[in-house]
Amino acid sequence: MSVTIFENASVIDVVAGEIMADRHVAVEGAMIKEVSESAISASDARRIDLKGKTLMPGLIDSHVHVTAFSANFTELQRSSPFYVAAAAARIMGGMLDRGFTTVRDVGGADFGLARAVEEGLIRAPRLIYGGKAMSPTGGHGDTRPAGLDRHDDAYNQPGLGAIVDGVPEVRRRAREEVRRGAHHLKIMGNGGISSPTDRISSDQFSEEEIAAVVEEAEMADLYVVVHAYTPRSIKRSVRLGVRSVEHGNLADREAIDLMKERGAFLVPTLATYRALKDEGVEAGLPAELAAKIDDVLDAGINAVELAYRAGVPMAYGTDLLGVMHRRQASEFALRSDVVPAADLVRAATINGARLMRLEDEIGQVKAGMRADLIVVEGNPLEDIRRLAEPEKNLRLVMARGVVQASQF
Ligand code: ZN
Ligand code: ZN
Repeated sequence: MSVTIFENASVIDVVAGEIMADRHVAVEGAMIKEVSESAISASDARRIDLKGKTLMPGLIDSHVHVTAFSANFTELQRSSPFYVAAAAARIMGGMLDRGFTTVRDVGGADFGLARAVEEGLIRAPRLIYGGKAMSPTGGHGDTRPAGLDRHDDAYNQPGLGAIVDGVPEVRRRAREEVRRGAHHLKIMGNGGISSPTDRISSDQFSEEEIAAVVEEAEMADLYVVVHAYTPRSIKRSVRLGVRSVEHGNLADREAIDLMKERGAFLVPTLATYRALKDEGVEAGLPAELAAKIDDVLDAGINAVELAYRAGVPMAYGTDLLGVMHRRQASEFALRSDVVPAADLVRAATINGARLMRLEDEIGQVKAGMRADLIVVEGNPLEDIRRLAEPEKNLRLVMARGVVQASQF
């Protein structure tokens, strides 16, 4: 097995939020074999002298849509799955180049794309997926304009959502996603921006339907992810057992306290609202939907602050679409007014790993973990822009023990 040794590294201990100076890290095959205070001997190892640069776990983005090559979901749904796969390969390659070595897709990606990643057919981060996001008729996963009746619910149409109504349909769909290897089940619990006929204020799915998805997920040893903005939508989902709350922009104290009590995670995605506001329509968002952005844009940072103060665990998420994917690192800067750098680093490493229940595999630089590592110029614990501006500061990306991009 090939051995790579990083010498003279400033390793980030994400748990302590500190730098461990002058460390030597050996990677064997796809795993971290050793983290040592002294030089590591090995006869035919590749040695990379980091000269004090920062070595840290590869970043984890817990809210992506790797197939979303456009912000126009109706167009996405009409596209050839072959075209969408090719576009997704390019999008995922870009994520790797920004230092993201694991991404959690919450609508669109499937077992085929994950297999292509695992087999090395495409350059990509590890892909955690949940298949299509379940939505009720007229909900955030229903891309039909009001004048259209028919919805193509074939599994191979490349849209992000599936329309299901009533407990039996919800259960069947959940079981189909479990059958296809889903790592989590995603539901639309609230209105959204890119859906043509719903309102941000609308609750989606009845309590019976949500409870049924939660039960199906728990039976399969999985958990449920919900798209939700309003306190009402967040509270009903969390009360019914949903573990991962996406966006959460309009959350109030009561909703945040309930999340804390129930051990739910918040995955804010400030990056996408900023991006949609700046360039969403150019990127394909139908112009008539742009007004919905203002309902959630400014509130997002308040929710992040409430969650931080209450100690609700937050993971790093972005939710970007189409050409806006290039802004993936901007979430660090957007949260930095209310969250300290060490906690932003945790959001994109150990918290994401815990959310996905992969904390024994990824999220730390430790012997026995997967060799998903990045090298950064400067110290992100002192200046989070080191991560927010990867084009300036990222020096190396290693995924599964293989160097994917390097300036050494
Ligand atoms: Zn969403
Ligand atoms: Zn999303």
